[in-house]
Amino acid sequence: MRILITGGAGFLGSHLSQRLLNEGHEVICMDNFFTGRKRNILPLMDHSDFELIRHDVTDPFKVECDQIYNLACPASPVHYQYNAIKTIKTSVMGAINCLGLGKRVNARVFQASTSEVYGDPSVHPQTEGYWGNVNPIGIRSCYDEGKRCAETLFMDYHRQNGVDVRIVRIFNTYGPNMCPDDGRVVSNFIVQALQGRDITVYGAGQQTRSFCYCDDLIDGFVKLMNQDEAIGPINMGNPGEFTILELAEKVIQMTGSQSKIIHEALPSDDPKQRQPDITQARKVLGWEPKYSLEDGLKPTIEYFDQLLSAE
Ligand code: NAD
Ligand code: UDP
Repeated sequence: MRILITGGAGFLGSHLSQRLLNEGHEVICMDNFFTGRKRNILPLMDHSDFELIRHDVTDPFKVECDQIYNLACPASPVHYQYNAIKTIKTSVMGAINCLGLGKRVNARVFQASTSEVYGDPSVHPQTEGYWGNVNPIGIRSCYDEGKRCAETLFMDYHRQNGVDVRIVRIFNTYGPNMCPDDGRVVSNFIVQALQGRDITVYGAGQQTRSFCYCDDLIDGFVKLMNQDEAIGPINMGNPGEFTILELAEKVIQMTGSQSKIIHEALPSDDPKQRQPDITQARKVLGWEPKYSLEDGLKPTIEYFDQLLSAE
């Protein structure tokens, strides 16, 4: 197949590109390089089935393809809050442009949605049936509401125009190819630990997250995209739940770092707890993560260690 990946030079997009090339597909990577990096796709550039298009998904595009994975959108709070208006435009207009193309060329369209659609959840663990608790006017809203609107568009194009869609709600995922200055917690803590700097825990560190290793998630993406049982939205993430303080301690222990934990102000609207209920993914796709937190942190620490020593 010929497969378009928007946001293909980002963290998840680069892993997905590699995976689809390995499976023998042609990959067209579309990216505006806001948070994506050439170094992520450098190993793919010589591949005869890989093509790169520098393009912003808020502008329409025409590409002949069989499948579209829509991943374009900054994912780290630091990056998505940098230009909040652009973030919501990317989610909403990016979705419209992907769905319009999907309709035109009859391609299946996949949306990388997020656990953020649940906001600061009052249901725990979060099931797909929960409608969420999102502040519509806060500093995270450009991302959360943009992704919620994108889901609406996906379902409406499906109902109204018969576009073939798949929607995944991704819970915090980490691994090699994340930006060292990404601002997300796993990359922050590992980089701080490797550089012997203070580990910045926001608030008391009692808020929880569930961390999924990228290879597990990409397996789930491909499974969801290539079956006809379910269109989603479907949760994907690792149900193992950790406090942010526990994560900081684990990173210090695994890196053997002398770094000290310090506490900084908790950003507003920071969700207190998050854990995916993956019953649907298990049942419909036979998918569940294989990597424990330690198993996934190991290659991630190695990646950042090599990256920092090369700088
Ligand atoms: P990332 O920031 O590494 O990747 C996003 C990519 O999209 C980058 O390459 C960036 O340059 C590109 N991009 C941004 N705006 C664009 C635009 N207007 N036009 C074209 N390209 C654009 O983040 P990631 O972690 O790889 O996330 C990929 C997708 O998965 C995002 O849609 C994100 O919302 C979603 N997601 C990720 C996580 C996670 O934990 N990693 C969790 C939930 C959802
Ligand atoms: N966090 C932290 N220190 C950091 C970065 C993040 O304590 O240096 C916290 C953040 O407040 C949140 C959690 O870690 O509670 C996860 O943050 P991240 O930005 O990775 O993702 P999200 O909040 O979108 O889940």
